[in-house]
Amino acid sequence: MFAAVVQSFGQPLVIEDRPTPTPAPGQLLVRVEASGLCHTDIHAAHGDWPVKPVPPFVPGHEGVGIVTAVGAGVAGIAEGDRVAVPWLGWACGSCEWCASGWETLCPNQRNTGYSVDGGFAEYVLAEAAFAGRVPEGVDPFDAAPLTCAGVTTYKAVKVSGTRPSDLVAVFGIGGLGHLAMQYAQIAGGTVAAVDIVDSKLQLAKDLGAAYTINAIHEDPVEVVQGLGGADAAIVLAATPTACEQAFRSLRRNGRLVFVGLPADNVMRLPIFETVLQGITVTGSIVGTRVDLAETYELHAAGRTTVVREQRALSEVNEAMRQVEHGEVDARIVFDLH
Ligand code: NAD
Ligand code: ZN
Ligand code: ZN
Repeated sequence: MFAAVVQSFGQPLVIEDRPTPTPAPGQLLVRVEASGLCHTDIHAAHGDWPVKPVPPFVPGHEGVGIVTAVGAGVAGIAEGDRVAVPWLGWACGSCEWCASGWETLCPNQRNTGYSVDGGFAEYVLAEAAFAGRVPEGVDPFDAAPLTCAGVTTYKAVKVSGTRPSDLVAVFGIGGLGHLAMQYAQIAGGTVAAVDIVDSKLQLAKDLGAAYTINAIHEDPVEVVQGLGGADAAIVLAATPTACEQAFRSLRRNGRLVFVGLPADNVMRLPIFETVLQGITVTGSIVGTRVDLAETYELHAAGRTTVVREQRALSEVNEAMRQVEHGEVDARIVFDLH
């Protein structure tokens, strides 16, 4: 099979021939049809974060495809089924977090495209218990971005506690942000979209944002405070600047949800304002298997729009460059057909 491989941090990925893996007990072999490019894959290829993957590795955690072989003991999924292989590749099922509905926080988890090889390949292995079941009628090229960008922001909106009267500031209208704003609107919220690229703000408008703010030309804090302040702010932009602006955009009792993971890992958080204004600051990491099923369900019901462009996997390095430079409207999905 062919695969796009990170051989060392900061170097272009290399398309390699590799042996097609064999599923162990409990695993599936998936022939990838569509594979989304998340900004996390770029952070992975750069070695941006405190916990790093070990090269050589195959990135990709939005792989969607058809099961072509099943390992021993797999029940409920068969050859020919369409599945997705998400970031939460496996969790232990028995720790305190798994047992309490927070498998996304499992300290023993394996992450697809990071600690185990991912979906930038013709074939990928999945743990059957953690593979997403893609419903009939959901296009695999839509299912791919929903498998990380979708579920992550669906969960972040849940965590934000958005209610119908809320103003929700969404910082960063990329792969994640264009879906975050849709889930915030489904929850009844009014969205103020913040980005630094006009085409992304146009996309936000097209998707129903009530307000759009280009943070290069206007101060998002001033604009959002002028609207009364945000009840919730969700940060998808990978920069501490956006995190700090999001904090200052909140109204009293506001909730700040961090999702984006900047290479520059530190921000300044004012204690006095946090305390006196009763601000909640929280992080949100992907979503559970149930969150993923709900994400697909909403899409199957026609309630979300996935904005994406198809590319060949051989264009992976150029695709990453374009995402980094804000030249992609929302998501690139590799076509592995
Ligand atoms: P993306 O590149 O598609 O989107 C980022 C957006 O932020 C772009 O539209 C960009 O123009 C915008 N932006 C950049 N600087 C900005 C600024 N100063 N103010 C406002 N907007 C700004 O990336 P993505 O795939 O949507 O991922 C976003 C981040 O979320 C990445 O750091 C990624 O690793 C992280 N992520 C986190 C989780 C999680 O579970 N917490 C899951 C997936 C991705
Ligand atoms: Zn992702
Ligand atoms: Zn666990």
